[in-house]
Amino acid sequence: MSVRTNSIGRHLPTSGGLGKTLKLARELGCETAQIFVSNPQGWAVPASRPDGASFARESREAGVAPVVAHAKYLINLASVDDEKRWRSVEALARELVAAGAVGAELVVVHAGSHGGDGEERGMARLVEGLERAREQAAKLAGDPGRVAEPVVENSVGAGTQLCSTFEALGEVVRRAGARVCVDTAHAFVAGYDFSEEDGGRAVAGELVAAVGGAVAVVHLNDAKNELGSHRDGHRKVGEGMIPLEALPGFFEGLPGVPVVMETPFKGDEADAEEVRRVKELVGGLRKAPDRR
Ligand SMILES: [Zn+2]
Ligand SMILES: [Zn+2]
Repeated sequence: MSVRTNSIGRHLPTSGGLGKTLKLARELGCETAQIFVSNPQGWAVPASRPDGASFARESREAGVAPVVAHAKYLINLASVDDEKRWRSVEALARELVAAGAVGAELVVVHAGSHGGDGEERGMARLVEGLERAREQAAKLAGDPGRVAEPVVENSVGAGTQLCSTFEALGEVVRRAGARVCVDTAHAFVAGYDFSEEDGGRAVAGELVAAVGGAVAVVHLNDAKNELGSHRDGHRKVGEGMIPLEALPGFFEGLPGVPVVMETPFKGDEADAEEVRRVKELVGGLRKAPDRR
């Protein structure tokens, strides 16, 4: 008998306050959730949230854990432009602190782009940037226990983006001591074929071979675009190019890893149905007790 070990949730808005975010998480059946702790499209520093401490406590009590934050899209730790790079390091450090303050354990950050001088140099800058951001965050917080952990997300491999392959993620794991976030839509358009027979199991196998136990979270999104197209775009699970049949095998290979959907909002009913459907696909509505 299989028992579900993956917590299932989705990205949620915070615009009405974190109390409302938690209420929505519960209404949708989320066991984990992702939020932004600042405007992801701008450089503005995260505002301190008066409801942060109560959200941290209440989300834990409600069994919505881990809470994940997604860092600003503008951050590029691998940038060839020094000013942009140091700005990115500082921005990530502030996000790690702000996420910690609302009880989020992880901050997903994009691997960034090398900007033309090659993957090797880009990777070296990414590794250094992660280390510096963690150091700065610890200083800013003054209490390392309240700082969230940065996890690096795989890219679609457009232009000079780093980390579209699991091997590259593995390099980040080894060199920066960081864990990773794997986005299924990004992996698919980067060339990982979930649609072959037993494709989900095979992709999970390749992933684990490359990064070992360092998968901190999965972004479960269906892909809007074709295999190998290197074009981003998310669809609701089951409405894109990744066959639903691939998901049970994929998650069997990743026991206990939390799963966050970043699929388009289609209203509470449809969103709750998607959460429910994914739970059933990956082992059933009931989840095994947490060993965390
Ligand atoms: Zn992302
Ligand atoms: Zn993602």
